[in-house]
Amino acid sequence: MEKTLVLLKPGTLQRALVGEVIGRFERKGLHLCGLKMMQLDDAILSEHYAHLAEKPFFQRVKDSMMANPVIALCLEGTDAIEVVRTLCGPTNGRKAPAGTIRGDFSMSFQENIVHASDGPETAKAEVARFFRPEEIFDWKANNLPATYANDEF
Ligand code: ADP
Repeated sequence: MEKTLVLLKPGTLQRALVGEVIGRFERKGLHLCGLKMMQLDDAILSEHYAHLAEKPFFQRVKDSMMANPVIALCLEGTDAIEVVRTLCGPTNGRKAPAGTIRGDFSMSFQENIVHASDGPETAKAEVARFFRPEEIFDWKANNLPATYANDEF
């Protein structure tokens, strides 16, 4: 099964949406294998957002991500990377469809509630960036037959 990295951004903590957002991932059937609160710094964000380094909003995005702690999640499931991105919706919260996390809770391109890994390579690198190996728990949920057909997991 795939693992993917989600960050609940500082604004999500400010707006007291942590439980709501984690609840959406749980209710979908994603398996929680890591969870922690972290204060990010410029070094980790420069690596994490390296693909935005040439953008005019690069520093502003990093500052926003350092404003207060984030919550990091590692979620697991069949096709988890794509499933989580679909639940989050597109980047701009004003354009994100109702029913998605960004569509329901964000009015902003930047302040868009969550980060989610966008592919297998980035998911692997991002889980390793935010979690030490011993912080990822290999525990078995006992509801798999109720969540998937037996050829899906
Ligand atoms: P995503 O988070 O949807 O994968 P990107 O990797 O392109 O999107 O961008 C990372 C983050 O940078 C976004 O989640 C958002 O907070 C911010 N961002 C991206 N594009 C813009 C923009 N045009 N204006 C303001 N902030 C942006």
